[in-house]
Amino acid sequence: MTPVERFRELLAIPTVSHVDPEQVDTARFVEFRDALRRLYPRVHSTLHRELVAEHSLLYRWVGTSDAAPIVLLAHQDVVSVANQTWRHPPFAAEMVGEGADATLYARGAIDDKGALVAILEAVEGALADGVTPVADVYLAFGHDEETRGSGARAIAALLAERGIAPAMVLDEGGAIVEGAVPGVRAPTAMIGVAERGVSTFELTVHEAGGHASTPPRVPATARLARAIDRLRRRSFPVRLVPPVRAMLATAAPHAAQPLRAMFSRTGLTAPALTAALASLGPETNALVRTTAVVTEMSGSAGENVLATTARAAVNVRLLTGDTIADVAVHLRRAIADPLVHIDLRHGDDPSPVSPWRGAAWRRLSGTVADTFGGEVVALPYLQLGASDSRFYTGLTDAVYRFAPFHLTRAERDALHAPDERIRIDVWLRGIRFYRALLESPSGAEPSGAARRRAELR
Ligand SMILES: [Zn+2]
Repeated sequence: MTPVERFRELLAIPTVSHVDPEQVDTARFVEFRDALRRLYPRVHSTLHRELVAEHSLLYRWVGTSDAAPIVLLAHQDVVSVANQTWRHPPFAAEMVGEGADATLYARGAIDDKGALVAILEAVEGALADGVTPVADVYLAFGHDEETRGSGARAIAALLAERGIAPAMVLDEGGAIVEGAVPGVRAPTAMIGVAERGVSTFELTVHEAGGHASTPPRVPATARLARAIDRLRRRSFPVRLVPPVRAMLATAAPHAAQPLRAMFSRTGLTAPALTAALASLGPETNALVRTTAVVTEMSGSAGENVLATTARAAVNVRLLTGDTIADVAVHLRRAIADPLVHIDLRHGDDPSPVSPWRGAAWRRLSGTVADTFGGEVVALPYLQLGASDSRFYTGLTDAVYRFAPFHLTRAERDALHAPDERIRIDVWLRGIRFYRALLESPSGAEPSGAARRRAELR
C-alpha cells in the first residue's frame, strides 16, 4: 500500500465535528483510530498510545535522552459539509490527474488530516529505517478542534500534570504561500508565533411588548439595528503588534523598494504601515486591529408580532495585547446606549507570543529551508484564526502554527468550503518535512557568532 492509498482510506472516514455533541457520530472516530492502528503498525507497536477525553489520541515515542520533547499536534475531526455543493464527493477521496501531478479532493485533505496523516507517514518511515529520536516525540491528535477543543485541552492538562515542558509544540496554522506580504515575491513559510483571541458577546434589547399595528417610536429591533450599525462604524484602533512587526522586519530583505526600507524601520514607519495594512483588505486589516462582526440575530417569531427581545451575537477576534475587558469597554462606548445589554457569552484572550529566535525557531526554520529550498523565506506571523495550540501555551513559550504544505490562494479558500483539495506532490513533500524535523538536531546551540548572525537575520 502506498502513502497516498493510506491517506485516501483515512479521508473517506467522515469524522465530522458538530457543536452539539449529540450529533457527533462517535463510531466514525472509533473506525478512524482502528484504521490508524491497521495502517501504521510500527507506530502502534513502538509508540505508547493513550485515549484522552474519549476520542483524542496521545502517542509517546520515547527518545534516547531525557532532553525536552517535541509535541506535534493535528486534529482528527473535520468540519461539516452540510449545505455545500461539491464537484467531487467530500468523502470519496477522488483523485483528478495522474501521478505526482494529481490532486486529491476530500474534506480534511488539508484541514487537518493532511497534517495528521503526513506526521504518521513520517514516523512510520523513520521507524522502518531504524531511527530513534534524541528526545521524546509526542503526537497529540484532538477530536473536536473545529468545535470545542475539549480534546486538546485535556491532553495539554495531562502533559502539564506530568510535568512535561516541551522544547517545541507544532500545530496547524500557516502554510507556504505567495503574496502574503505586500512587495515580497518569494514564497514564504508563514509560521504562526501567536494567534488572536476569540470571544462572543451578546447584545440584548427588551421591549414591554405591544402590537405590530401600533409600534413604539424605537422598537427593540430598531434599537438593536442602531447598536449594530454604531459598532460597525466605530472600528477598533489600529496598531503594529510585535508578531506583525517581526513578520515585516524578517520579510524586509526580500521585499521590493520602497517597502524594503519601510519594513526594516517599523519604529518610524509604523503609522504609515498600519494605515496601509488596514486598507489593503480584510486579511491585512485583521493583522492590525481587533475585529468584531455580528453573526446570529433574532427578534420576533411572527410577522405580525413585536419582538419583546431582540438579540445579536458579536463575534470578536482580539489582537495581541487586547483583553476581553478592553473589548467590553469598546463595545459599550461604541454602542453608547444603556438600553442595549452587552454580555460576554465566552471567550479566550489572545495567545502569548512565541519567540522568532532561539533553538526551537532555528530548528523549525532550518527544516523549512532543508525541505523546501533556500528560496522559501520563513516568516513569523500572527495567525488570524484559533487553533488547538492555544491550550499548550502554558507548557512552553515555543508554540508554533505551521503546516508544511505549499498552497495556492484557491486551495486555501477551499478550507471549510466545497472542494477542499491538496496536490499529491505537495502532500508528499509535507511528509519529508516532518521526517526532517524529527531527525533535525534538537536545538543544539550554535557558536556565538553563528547565533548572532541567525538573530540578525
Ligand atoms: Zn484545522
